[in-house]
Amino acid sequence: MSAIRQHLIDPEVCIRCNTCEENCPIDGAITHNADNYVVDVEKCNYCMSCIAPCPTGAIDHWRMVTTPYSLEEQFSWDELPDDAEPAANAETRTNADHEALEDEATAILDVAHQGQQGKVKPPFSAAHPFINIYTRENPAIAKVAGNYRITSENSDSDIHHIVLDFGSTAFPVLEGQSIGIIPPGVDGRGKPHNMRLYSVASPRDGERPNHNNLSLTVKRVLFEEDGELQKGVGSNYVCDLQKGDEVQVTGAFGSTFLMPNHPEANIMMICTGTGSAPFRAMTERRRRKRSPGDPGKMMLFFGARTKGDLPYFGPLQKLPNSLIRKELCFSREPDQEKEYVQDRILKCGSDVAEWLKDDNTFIYLCGLKGMEIGVEAAFSKICEGNGLNWDTLRTAMRENGRYHVETY
Ligand code: NAP
Repeated sequence: MSAIRQHLIDPEVCIRCNTCEENCPIDGAITHNADNYVVDVEKCNYCMSCIAPCPTGAIDHWRMVTTPYSLEEQFSWDELPDDAEPAANAETRTNADHEALEDEATAILDVAHQGQQGKVKPPFSAAHPFINIYTRENPAIAKVAGNYRITSENSDSDIHHIVLDFGSTAFPVLEGQSIGIIPPGVDGRGKPHNMRLYSVASPRDGERPNHNNLSLTVKRVLFEEDGELQKGVGSNYVCDLQKGDEVQVTGAFGSTFLMPNHPEANIMMICTGTGSAPFRAMTERRRRKRSPGDPGKMMLFFGARTKGDLPYFGPLQKLPNSLIRKELCFSREPDQEKEYVQDRILKCGSDVAEWLKDDNTFIYLCGLKGMEIGVEAAFSKICEGNGLNWDTLRTAMRENGRYHVETY
């Protein structure tokens, strides 16, 4: 039996105000007795209508299960069961299966996280991530719901926005997490292809709100070897997928590069090219969830060669400045001075310094490894001019889950 994501209510936090039951559009999906409010797994369709109105957050709890908790069990609880998967789920996989997958994904992410120079925690208000649920031996099967080129037709950079639909298979992800895609077939040595990791570009409740789908941002890799044009296996497989194709998906992966959920958090995002994927997810999450008057700000430093090479250039322009400050910079736009993200960070030095002084600021870097040195140098310079020490600040931010780097 495949795992499902079961919606539960925390009896320790719930104040029994009946708001969830009143807001639930499905008769009987949320009910109560004298003890507890509970969700009927047979009736709940994950519409999320109950989530925002709940005054305490008791409603927003989820467990991956193969044997769902019954109403009787939920009525009997004084507290939620442990967050760990029930034993029934664990039995569906072997340890070796788990370890192999963890090793493969961890090795990739360890390299990607080197730039934060030490182990980092997730933000204190980040949601709990589910990781390693689907393995190479037990992958989730997703169907391609759409595949669109998102760079201009005359650009050399062929970047695609791919939407994967999971149908009735639960595949929980958070903004900032990655998934694995296994290209079919074998490599030159006759071994199955390595898994490729891609950041999820859509928020946790789906590319389309409350749909069981997600999106990816993938650039087609072409390179020359021995005078011949070669195609990157993973990226060309993904960029060539057709609507309706089935894809083997593993994961989700990543438990630290996650967004803060408290509305006071300022989120500074710095990226190049397809490194923008997790920031599209975080921005869209904020856009969907924010309330008027929320104090937290968002700022995006985004570098590409030209406007035509910048993924999501059109939709990005439409996002209101009240939601996100956009600092887009181009390195090869004709008649324009070459500009990298670190140059723009320096130009915005006094504003960046104010953000660095604020304990509610969370910084994320994603994209080319090469940008790390330049971005670090820009932060150092801004700190020097504003009575701060970047090395000390970075260590403190990292230890508080406020400085995150994922570069390849
Ligand atoms: P790209 O087009 O090669 O480069 C984007 C911009 O970065 C260009 O303007 C480039 O300028 C500039 N750049 C080059 N070196 C730089 C440096 N040292 N400092 C600052 N800017 C620099 O980018 P891309 O091919 O899309 O690569 C994005 C990276 O993100 C890849 O390494 C990818 O693996 C990674 N990533 C992808 C995902 C995903 O889900 N697909 C997720 C996370 C990370 P010039 O070329 O003019 O020098």
